Amino acid sequence: MATEPISVTKPRVFKNFIDGQWVESRSGQAFENVNPADTREVVGIFQRSGKAEVDAAVEAAGRAFAKWRLVPAPRRAEIIYRASQILEERKEDYSRDMTREMGKVLKETRGDTQEAIDTGYFMAGEGRRMFGHTVPSELPNKFAMAVRQPIGVCAMITPWNFPMAIPSWKLFPALVAGNTCIIKPAQDTPLSVFNFVEALMDAGIPKGVVNIVTGFGSEVGTPLTEHPDVRAISLTGSTAVGRVVGESAARSFKRCSLELGGKNPMIVLDDANLDLALDGALWGAFGTTGQRCTATSRIIVQKGVYREFVNRLVERAKKLKIGNGLDETVDMGPAVNKSQMETDLKYIEIGQNEGAKMLCGGHRLEKGEYQHGWFVEPTVFGDVDPKMRIAQEEIFGPVVSVIPCDHMDDAIEIANGVVYGLSSAIYTKDVNRAFKAMCDLYAGITYINAPTIGAEVHLPFGGTKQTGNGHREGGIGAIDFYTEWKSVYVDYSDRLQKAQIDRPE
Ligand code: NAD
Repeated sequence: MATEPISVTKPRVFKNFIDGQWVESRSGQAFENVNPADTREVVGIFQRSGKAEVDAAVEAAGRAFAKWRLVPAPRRAEIIYRASQILEERKEDYSRDMTREMGKVLKETRGDTQEAIDTGYFMAGEGRRMFGHTVPSELPNKFAMAVRQPIGVCAMITPWNFPMAIPSWKLFPALVAGNTCIIKPAQDTPLSVFNFVEALMDAGIPKGVVNIVTGFGSEVGTPLTEHPDVRAISLTGSTAVGRVVGESAARSFKRCSLELGGKNPMIVLDDANLDLALDGALWGAFGTTGQRCTATSRIIVQKGVYREFVNRLVERAKKLKIGNGLDETVDMGPAVNKSQMETDLKYIEIGQNEGAKMLCGGHRLEKGEYQHGWFVEPTVFGDVDPKMRIAQEEIFGPVVSVIPCDHMDDAIEIANGVVYGLSSAIYTKDVNRAFKAMCDLYAGITYINAPTIGAEVHLPFGGTKQTGNGHREGGIGAIDFYTEWKSVYVDYSDRLQKAQIDRPE
């Protein structure tokens, strides 16, 4: 890593994107987006916006909706398809920007951009599907069907850990369905949203259909969730923020999708392929520096293989190369910001105080090449009691708890014994146990012989309990969220027919 500041040029200033125009915030204030691997590099300067910009964006989106909803869905889909092609052409540049703004290693940011591309191609196909229902009517000479209609102005509030993939899960289905949108990116990763929207602009999205308002949660997120003309809110973020947004949306009867936290378990049974389970554990726990909502944060290991598994996990965790994600040889990047690093270190202290055995890691790296970044060592706790805070609360960092268990039923009970229910995994060669886990793990996603991370875009994504409020992103569930059902009856009998009343004798 360079010891001199990486960027000597003046950082670019980004304005809000409202009604197809670049607009400064009325407050005249801005905030810096810095590289967490080297905080001397300012990736960009973004507007610190507020209610005035939210009002302007909602008004623009409302005006644009009147036209956009009437554009035939296959035509809307063509713009999305073109945007995906553009993202593909610019994949390398956009992925590098993403590594610079949030730290995860290049192979993962390439995956993040690829997820947006995949979502775009999938949702472009929906432009010629968006299936409704045709059903028989109970009356003669009457036709019955249900069609989908767009909801209107939608607001998207996104986190920093998947800076392009998550915006794409929200914007692409909303747009193909005929809605108009305002997106508020996380303050740590606005650049990737600008890159994403740039692809949409170059693909020909009309003005006002997509708007970006940057700023802080309470200053931009709150007015968005409270605005009476916003008809749907989609938030991905922490459970604490989800509770606030959900309550606010309920007051004005907005449709609201919440994708929130996780504490995802991986079960390793005595008959598992241990080499495979170890590969999965390392990728699941330390990929994206543990900052995935689906990160493997609890590994529940049956006693017969517990010692061997833990010893080998620690040996391999110690060998992971930590550093700047732009270096292709690095395995794990920094925490996204100082506050997340402090949370990681706080939980490491909590784990030690609770009596868990810290088997490796546990420290901030701050010397030499690490001195300007937010680096934490990959940390493994062993002999963790499932009731300890480190085994119950979301840490969102490179800290994993290994929990011993006696048998399969015990493992399932531990796995389900948290307030979250996003992802889950089991390693076993026994098909009966695999199917039992599929049935009994109460989570939105279950992997058999694969880690808790690795969702594909055409299947539903989301979780149970405090991970969300029952909606799903990905797949057709996203179209369900961004459309209203309308039932249509066409009576071609030329007489008044009364449903439920005019019954054949
Ligand atoms: P966060 O909750 O702090 O912020 C998420 C977004 O909400 C940001 O854009 C933020 O500015 C905004 N926000 C904050 N306060 C707000 C308010 N009062 N009103 C409206 N908006 C507000 O989360 P984060 O730190 O950006 O991301 C990490 C969290 O996201 C973790 O808990 C993680 O599990 C979760 N996450 C969940 C999923 C999923 O699909 N389930 C995916 C990725 C991340």
